[in-house]
Amino acid sequence: MSRDWTKEEIQAASEAMQSMGHMSYETFCKELDASHKIQRFAPLQRKYHWPCPRCGRWVMNSDPARNALSRRAEIYICDQCGTEEALEDFIGKIRPLASWDIAKQEDWPLGAAEAEDE
Ligand SMILES: [Zn+2]
Repeated sequence: MSRDWTKEEIQAASEAMQSMGHMSYETFCKELDASHKIQRFAPLQRKYHWPCPRCGRWVMNSDPARNALSRRAEIYICDQCGTEEALEDFIGKIRPLASWDIAKQEDWPLGAAEAEDE
């Protein structure tokens, strides 16, 4: 059984989660959006040459499999980002998906390629 939450209830739950060291509801939603955008983009990596979705630099090998596989999502990232993710795991401080270049920029190359596909 489910019910709709009021804004106040979501806010209270969000604050409680944050105080326990979890993501706030707002952060969770941003991460979910970023994750969806990354998932939609992943298959296109095999078809075209793209910048690194994490840092946005044009340093990717044109053969996707010759880049680093992200530890956060099923997607290829540049070698330097791959190393950074390994270091993040080591120190236990993981950069949110919402801070990736692909998530931050509304007009990231995604739109152009999806239009080209149709
Ligand atoms: Zn990168």
